Amino acid sequence: MEWTAEAEAALKRVPFFVRRRVRARVEEEARAEGKRRVTLAEVRAAQARFLSGEEAEIRGWRLETCFGPGGCPHRALMTDRLVERLERVLQTAQLYDFLRREVQGGLRFHHEFRVAVADCPNACSQPQIRDVGIIGVRVPETAAEPCSRCGACRDACPEGAVRLAEADGRPPVIDLGRCLNCGLCVGRCPTGTLAEAWNGYRVLLGGRLGRHPRLGFELPGIFEEDRVIEIAQEALEFFKRRSRGGERFARLFGEREFADWSRRFCGRTEAGGRDSCGGSLP
Ligand code: SF4
Ligand code: SF4
Ligand code: SF4
Repeated sequence: MEWTAEAEAALKRVPFFVRRRVRARVEEEARAEGKRRVTLAEVRAAQARFLSGEEAEIRGWRLETCFGPGGCPHRALMTDRLVERLERVLQTAQLYDFLRREVQGGLRFHHEFRVAVADCPNACSQPQIRDVGIIGVRVPETAAEPCSRCGACRDACPEGAVRLAEADGRPPVIDLGRCLNCGLCVGRCPTGTLAEAWNGYRVLLGGRLGRHPRLGFELPGIFEEDRVIEIAQEALEFFKRRSRGGERFARLFGEREFADWSRRFCGRTEAGGRDSCGGSLP
């Protein structure tokens, strides 16, 4: 539906975490009234109705995803099953009841526990500023198949991390210091010279916006799906154990907690068969 410039400008001033829902609501209400264009008046009316009914929308948690499942070509991982599992974990945590007991007065969106999943390191769902942020990655490696030196991997890499070999047949060199494990080069290689070594998830904890914004602490290494679920469950238990009066997870999770969790949750590292705590992996 068409929006006037004033209507778009007004929408931009709505808090980002409810903006998408406000947009959908405004269009739904405008359509119901037979309108084909959204003006400032429609935004103001819908916004007032939406915010006054805020508490009715609150369920204690939010799980945000990126547009990967809609067919984004950058998708490194199919995260659908992980998202379903996370949803079940969040549903069974009874966060609404917990917040209702803890928070004096009305519940607000900022009280909710927030998880975001992104299907590649572009991180469109902003996992860096959520209580738990999860980013799908695909780690590249060179395989035995000869390279045709077509250059597709180099051209695909947004980080400039791929350097072609001088000699025919030799695989390209990947600069691991630059590589973000998006897997785009693997998907473009026609010969199989570049392959996926393994895939998994980066996990960030305790990111926030607000008066004292901070990116989440990233646990070292890359995690399998089961481990991500365990970390999310642990984060929920930590939140319910420690949060009083509506304190956010991100206010409770600091340097000390990060150091402790980094010892307890050891992700697979770039080095391959070892985890971030020095242990061996199969
Ligand atoms: S995070 Fe990656 S896969 Fe998801 S929408 Fe953004 S670019 Fe696409
Ligand atoms: S996986 Fe690494 S080398 Fe390959 S395209 Fe992504 S950033 Fe570049
Ligand atoms: S590794 Fe694959 S994509 Fe890259 S230059 Fe060789 S054949 Fe082309």
